[in-house]
Amino acid sequence: MLLSPSRVLREQVSIEKMITIYCRAKHQQYSGLCAECSLLLEYALQRLARCIFREKKPVCAKCPIHCYRKDMRDKIIVVMRYAGPRMLYKHPLLAVLHLIDSWKTTPPAGYRAGK
Ligand SMILES: [Zn+2]
Repeated sequence: MLLSPSRVLREQVSIEKMITIYCRAKHQQYSGLCAECSLLLEYALQRLARCIFREKKPVCAKCPIHCYRKDMRDKIIVVMRYAGPRMLYKHPLLAVLHLIDSWKTTPPAGYRAGK
């Protein structure tokens, strides 16, 4: 699963792990996620499933389209800021693969947001 060639799938796994790290630390949830984080995860998985770039997707931080709704975007930024660095020792393989993706994958040439 982790080495799955599907980047969308891998990013879905990563975001779930990041939200779990965040929820455990900030909301003291030790099994599953709190209601708020469950909603955020559901939203994030749906955004990835609908990403128009599919397997050519850039990492979200470099994407020209900000597809998140404002309130969800604010929440996921806080989660990523907290959980991102922690992914390196909790899920090093995922973190390294994501780093490589961030170097080599750019949005399709000529693409501009709003098209
Ligand atoms: Zn939570």
